[in-house]
Amino acid sequence: MSMDPAAELPFFYGSISRTEAEHHLKLAGMADGLFLLRQCLRNLGGYVLSVVWNLEFYHYSIEKQLNDTYCITGGIAHCGPAELYTPIRLSLFDSMKNNMLREYVKQTWNLEGEAMEQAIISQAPQLEKLIATMAHEKMLWYHGKIPRQESERLLYCGAQTDGKFLIRDREESGTFALSVMYGKNVYHYQIIQDKSGKYSIPQGLKFDSIWQLVEFLKLKPDGILTVLGDACVCTAPGKLPSLPTTRRTGPNSYTPAPQAATAKAVRPVSEEHVLPMDCIGFNPYHNPNEIKKLNLDRNKLFIDEVELGSGNFGCVKRGVLETKTGQLDVAIKVLKSDNEKLMKEEMMREAEIMYQLSNPFIVRMLGLCNAESLMLVMEMAACGPLHKFLSSNKDTVSVEEIVNLMHQVSMGMKYLEEKSFVHRDLAARNVLLVKRQFAKISDFGLSKALGADSEYYKARSTGLWPLKWYAPECINYRKFSSKSDVWSFGITMWEAFSYGGKPYKKMKQAEVNSFIESEKRLACPAKCPERMYALMQECWIYKHEDRPDFKKVEEAMRSYHYSISNKVKPLGAVAAAEPDMYP
Ligand code: ADP
Ligand code: MG
Repeated sequence: MSMDPAAELPFFYGSISRTEAEHHLKLAGMADGLFLLRQCLRNLGGYVLSVVWNLEFYHYSIEKQLNDTYCITGGIAHCGPAELYTPIRLSLFDSMKNNMLREYVKQTWNLEGEAMEQAIISQAPQLEKLIATMAHEKMLWYHGKIPRQESERLLYCGAQTDGKFLIRDREESGTFALSVMYGKNVYHYQIIQDKSGKYSIPQGLKFDSIWQLVEFLKLKPDGILTVLGDACVCTAPGKLPSLPTTRRTGPNSYTPAPQAATAKAVRPVSEEHVLPMDCIGFNPYHNPNEIKKLNLDRNKLFIDEVELGSGNFGCVKRGVLETKTGQLDVAIKVLKSDNEKLMKEEMMREAEIMYQLSNPFIVRMLGLCNAESLMLVMEMAACGPLHKFLSSNKDTVSVEEIVNLMHQVSMGMKYLEEKSFVHRDLAARNVLLVKRQFAKISDFGLSKALGADSEYYKARSTGLWPLKWYAPECINYRKFSSKSDVWSFGITMWEAFSYGGKPYKKMKQAEVNSFIESEKRLACPAKCPERMYALMQECWIYKHEDRPDFKKVEEAMRSYHYSISNKVKPLGAVAAAEPDMYP
């Protein structure tokens, strides 16, 4: 009897049951993309691929066709089970990339938990790009610019096992080289980079990054004498622990080295490459209770004369707040000194709302100070309101940047929706920029917390309302919900994509109302991408029941943001597009 063609594969488990397969995957750590291949017990010569995704198991049957090819039921044909190996194994990179991304975010910005999630969701394409271009620098096997002789000295030192390797910068050309031990000799391979920036061993499969190439060569000796084995370790500081590879016995969970939590890399960034996480104000202030106080000591607060803005409540001034951990730039909402009781109460209500919120994309309140007048102290968003920023930087801000900012706003609004707060004044004027890459929702002057069992807030009477931003149910019934905030989000998007344009510019409110009632909507701004205009139109669905919620809006913003950002192509796509690259 001929041997099973899959028998030699390291991930082939033979004829085990579904339950046993799930047991093995559980033991191996349940990482996304973790998989094994087993014999199909029902269909002779067939296989089942068991994969973990999102902590769930998926079992795909792989059928042997009459012409001796294999395919996942309904998928493309392959010559044998081993051939399935490469493209499937590549999906493992996604899970490694994910782990790497997390470790990088943790180390670089000292983020954890929810703050880390928000960082990753909002900046995934930017982070992937960063990781792709520089992650190798953090790897134990990367030695930087060392001469060829030095690499040999290092490799001959200690155990001379086959596959022991390192990566170094080549002295002359600015490219990389791989130095590998095999049969007690060291071999050097040039790593070439094609025009589009992809890396490979000459004639080998191409990868977006050096570390992916290395991980691949650990699995397959694509053009070199041996698969890569142990790293010849570089002892320079700031290295990440090595990444996991799925082996039958090896642990699959990615356990960071103990020093990782404390090591904080210094990230040199130019102004244009700043990420929200580089700004103070992304992190929750480390000990929120230390700072967020309802009676700030007036002596700790320095108020500048510079006015950032004003309203009928008084004005917003620049200032500095002294805290135990250092000085913070702040914005201070100062109530007019001849204030009445009513104004004071309003500001207290605003402070009470802000006090309950903590999200990177929402302006944080740092405290209240009751001195010469009542003052609401907030973190500073130095680049000011979105509409002004965009109208004065029309020529330099790209549509991609606007998408990134509006995605952040949608994340902040999703958070508000989850916490059952309605903003009621979402508009570009109330989206403030910390930096051109980092937006925060502000101005909670009209905001309300919804009661536990109510879907909406009903205002007793109309007030000084931003009607052009309001949904029909607000205008007609004074009913406010997260769905009416979604309508305002649509208007805010329109303002952003028209670079600070005024919605319904020349129309009076009565005209706007009949315009909306007759099913007309704002036109697509000149530079606005179709998908973004389509989303705005969804935000302006007349009936609030039929409008998407912020969970959906954020999803739509996210997927568009990811799709247009210059992101590294998923590896599966590379493999599928270049089948001829396989030896
Ligand atoms: P209003 O209820 O009058 O609209 P806002 O809270 O929107 O009050 O503040 C008015 C103006 O003050 C804003 O448009 C902005 O220019 C400035 N401002 C408010 N908060 C901040 C802040 N945290 N950082 C920087 N500027 C701010
Ligand atoms: Mg405002």
